[in-house]
Amino acid sequence: MDLNEILNKGELSKEEIVFLLNLTSEGDLKALYDKADQVRRLYVGDEVHFRGIINFSNFCEQNCIYCGLREDNFSLSRYRMTPEEIIETAKMISNEGVYTIVLQSGEDSFYDADMISYIIYSIKQNTNLAVTLSIGERRFDEYRAWKIAGADRYLLKHETANEKHYHIYHDRQALHERINHLRFLKQIGYQVASGNLIGLPLQAVEDIADDILLCKELNADMAAFGPFIPAPFTPYKNHKPGSPELTLKTIAAARIVIKDIHLPATTALDSLDKEGREKALLCGANVVMPDFTPHPYREKYLIYPGKRGISDDPLVSHKMIQSRIEAIGRKISASRGDSVKSSYRIV
Ligand code: SAH
Ligand code: SF4
Repeated sequence: MDLNEILNKGELSKEEIVFLLNLTSEGDLKALYDKADQVRRLYVGDEVHFRGIINFSNFCEQNCIYCGLREDNFSLSRYRMTPEEIIETAKMISNEGVYTIVLQSGEDSFYDADMISYIIYSIKQNTNLAVTLSIGERRFDEYRAWKIAGADRYLLKHETANEKHYHIYHDRQALHERINHLRFLKQIGYQVASGNLIGLPLQAVEDIADDILLCKELNADMAAFGPFIPAPFTPYKNHKPGSPELTLKTIAAARIVIKDIHLPATTALDSLDKEGREKALLCGANVVMPDFTPHPYREKYLIYPGKRGISDDPLVSHKMIQSRIEAIGRKISASRGDSVKSSYRIV
């Protein structure tokens, strides 16, 4: 296969994506990253969009094999923020010049449909924030109620497009269900984000190519490709973490394949490589998701260990991220950074 030819094709096959993910030489990687950077500039511009995360509960009724919040992790000290604490944090984020918040938690039915609706509605009344929910799989009528309350987006990664692996990682859930949820969310007007974990045990590069193609097929508005980081007190605690380089190749390939999609430079990547965020922004990414969870909860949201900046003041951490982005010549967006799907441009 010829790298230049592949990089300049309109549509890539699974085999061609696998070819990109297997590149190793410095020259080839530079060509891949440069092309992704060029496609990023053309389709989504130079602006970097912030999505401020509030991790409001670390209780979880699921048991995903890789995650530190899984129900069977009895070592974790659990917390829940009150609706008022969540709403106040959202206002603070809005005052920081961030235009999107992500309300994230384990799957925690303590927050029933009405409580989540109340939180969304109050935030929409008090701020101009776009509201993203990232609270796992819930009932379809709940998704509908939250859309009516004002929610704009839903983040629910498919995690892996390999059905067999999905079943091994999630003993209580099924891939086809997850895909149904993503399609339903899209259908009722949410901007939808999916994505995978890079470097989970059993995963092959062919699986990652399928993950990229599934995000394309779902017409996802955002896709988060982040490395797996082994978490203590989980069955995968002794496995090695996902490769930062493979994560960068995945982001670059996704940009080239899907083009008009938001791609975050994930915190997990930044935890494994201290320049991970910058590197991702230079090979296709255009979104950053700083953690604004306040103390004392911040330290307890241990999906994986060693989250960067975890002991920092969230505002100081945010300022540091801003200056790192400006240092690589990118602009901080002054808009909500909605989906770019409707403003499709031809290269
Ligand atoms: N409970 C919700 C949202 C919180 S989990 C949900 O599952 O959708 C958010 C993301 O954390 C998951 O989508 C998963 O991809 C990621 N995650 C979980 N464990 C991880 C680990 N050990 N390393 C890196 N990312 C992890
Ligand atoms: Fe719970 Fe989400 Fe972690 Fe799964 S990934 S255990 S649903 S917090």
